Amino acid sequence: MARLDGKRALVTAAGQGIGKASVLAMAAEGAQVIATDINPDSLAALAAEAGAQVETFTMDVLNKESVADGVARAAPDVLFNCAGFVHAGSILDAIDDDLEFALDLNVKSMFRTIRAALPGMLERGSGSIINMSSACSSIIGAPNRCVYGTSKAAVIGLTKSVAIEYITQGIRCNAICPGTVESPSLHDRLRATGDYEKAMKDFVARQPMGRIATAEEIAALVVYLASDESGFTTGQPHVIDGGWSG
Ligand code: NAD
Repeated sequence: MARLDGKRALVTAAGQGIGKASVLAMAAEGAQVIATDINPDSLAALAAEAGAQVETFTMDVLNKESVADGVARAAPDVLFNCAGFVHAGSILDAIDDDLEFALDLNVKSMFRTIRAALPGMLERGSGSIINMSSACSSIIGAPNRCVYGTSKAAVIGLTKSVAIEYITQGIRCNAICPGTVESPSLHDRLRATGDYEKAMKDFVARQPMGRIATAEEIAALVVYLASDESGFTTGQPHVIDGGWSG
């Protein structure tokens, strides 16, 4: 028996990167996966690659109605909140709008999906909520990540609050805190520095393991937290950072 047999898993930002890898990993473990994103093209490519166990539709986590419709359609036992955006810069490089956008996409999106998914989970008496944070959060500070680190620290606070509130009702809520992970947006960020090679070298240098993570390594943690094997774990930031914060 696979680890996620019989579970329905909803993933946000599933079109590429860690979200996509997690969709494929959870489907391989027997889950029925509902993969959502704002990008219909990447969802179409994912649908072509994945088997019948993966259903795709667009869902914009910034939009309350879109989230309410998508979560109702998915009726998830597992909710993986993966959507997030990196603002590059120090506090002096950022304006109010940057912080507001990051809080909307990185934190309020989860507030919306969790509020939509919880009533069904409570009715069924079980649910696993997995929120994408980052090592760059309340775990460790990183240069040029003021807005990002602030928003990802808030994700840990949200995670702990939801975990303690529903701990006796079969609901678990955990956060994932990766170091740098191979993904399409990472390459965009490296290119945006103007010196791709140096930026990649700097990212690798801050990982004591001497390499960045693959999306599949993070997806394996998602599978564990989604599964009943992790039944004694809730309210925790699970750091998976190649020793960066160690
Ligand atoms: P990515 O940034 O490459 O992809 C992001 C996806 O989000 C895209 O498919 C995009 O279409 C989708 N998206 C954007 N706005 C959306 C919206 N409003 N609604 C729904 N979907 C939307 O993916 P990634 O780099 O794997 O990052 C995924 C998550 O992991 C993010 O929360 C990120 O902060 C976090 N994370 C990434 C790294 C890393 O190094 N890549 C490290 C730590 C944490």
